[in-house]
Amino acid sequence: MLDETAGRAPGGAARWWLAQSLRALGAEIAARGGSLILRKGPAAGVIPEEARESGARAVYWNGIAQAPHQAIERRLEAALAKLGVDSQSFPGDLLVPPSAIRNKEGRGLRVFTPFWRRVLSLGDPPKPLPAPKQLRPGPKIVSDRLESWQLAPTKPDWAGGLRERWTPGEASARARLRDFLKTIARGYAGDRDRPDRVGTSGLSPHLRFGELSPRQVWHAARFAAAEDAALGPGIEKFLSELGWREFCRHLLHDHPDLATENLQTNFDGFPWQSDGKVLAAWQRGRTGYPIVDAGLRELWHTGVMHNRVRMVVASFLVKHLLIDWRDGEAWFWDTLVDADAGSNPANWQWVAGCGADAAPYFRVFNPQLQGEKFDPDGTYVRRWVPELQGLPAKLIHQPWQATPNELASAGVTLGKTYPQPIVDHARGRERALSAYAKIRKG
Ligand code: FAD
Repeated sequence: MLDETAGRAPGGAARWWLAQSLRALGAEIAARGGSLILRKGPAAGVIPEEARESGARAVYWNGIAQAPHQAIERRLEAALAKLGVDSQSFPGDLLVPPSAIRNKEGRGLRVFTPFWRRVLSLGDPPKPLPAPKQLRPGPKIVSDRLESWQLAPTKPDWAGGLRERWTPGEASARARLRDFLKTIARGYAGDRDRPDRVGTSGLSPHLRFGELSPRQVWHAARFAAAEDAALGPGIEKFLSELGWREFCRHLLHDHPDLATENLQTNFDGFPWQSDGKVLAAWQRGRTGYPIVDAGLRELWHTGVMHNRVRMVVASFLVKHLLIDWRDGEAWFWDTLVDADAGSNPANWQWVAGCGADAAPYFRVFNPQLQGEKFDPDGTYVRRWVPELQGLPAKLIHQPWQATPNELASAGVTLGKTYPQPIVDHARGRERALSAYAKIRKG
């Protein structure tokens, strides 16, 4: 069911994922004897119509605790009840419903640590049931052709990098979870910050599209940790990251305008600068800061960016370049395959300093030091910024410090083969702090 009134319209990369994911789902349903019916339109109109045509006695769905989805669910329930059709919503998108985590005033929590403590105190979420092995074929209902939804790009087809990196669908999601728990989880606590290693699960787009639920991930992870005690620390850290997904979604439930409004309203008067050229240089990975450029090029090519690098590029945009976090959020929204209505704006606000439990604005990442710390040999930069490949590790995060000879022997001409830094770090930092001082006074 594609209901275009259900929240924010997905960006280009997410539309590509959705098309592949639906194709995979159709194949899995067909293999069990059923068929996937695709229909487009307002859910509260189309689904009851289908229920009447097919003689369905009940309609079940996965509930989404976000305002536009909840409004649709209420209309759908009422329309089905009028027809005498039973309906039920199941909360598989979250570990716990937002109603279970409230403070004394009945509001959601805005600090992660107590939030997560409360989630853990509730114990394991209910264990999901396995998918049915067989489906009885239903009455013939006409389905839209997936191609008619025009989700995947054709003219031009820019999705080659996404295809290279990803296989959407439940089977691939399960395989990725299995691999993660078997191998990567062991080193997760230490490696998760290293963009030069395969140190994280890569599950975010699968979770975003419901190919795997957080409850399945939770139970599989707990089971793996019970089987092998050495996995314990990695799994605890991993589950707390899943907790951030949960936290972001609870925030979105309480603040439906999370993508447009500062959670901390003193940021409403922040003197953002609007500069299309600078924003375009950032989007294309041409800022002259290798770790920033590597991240943005990785995003453009694969539809994801390592979490550590997301923090660095976001901080660079809002602090060094003084560009509104909403512009960065919108770029991520269009280019990420895991673009999520909760996690994306909540993390942007967190980095910008205006969000819940946010990093303080005055903490400005130094992109060179971040590169040296988390990509010490420059492996990640060399992969995504090939024009710097010939530089030695000690210079790869600061090509502007190389001597003319060093640059020449690496085949680099600053300002020609690779940009000069778009802004000097110390100057950018100072400018950011004085902009922040304005709203602190105001
Ligand atoms: P793992 O480290 O394996 O973590 C497991 C799961 O935990 C992830 O799949 C994800 O569902 C969740 N998770 C991990 N870190 C976070 C976090 N900081 N916030 C929320 N959930 C988290 N994540 C998205 O899923 N969608 C987004 O649109 C998104 N936008 C972001 C924007 C910015 C500016 C930043 C700094 C982070 C953003 N993140 C977003 C969070 C994080 O970068 C990704 O979830 C993570 O990189 C996905 O890789 P993984 O699945 O290998 O993560």
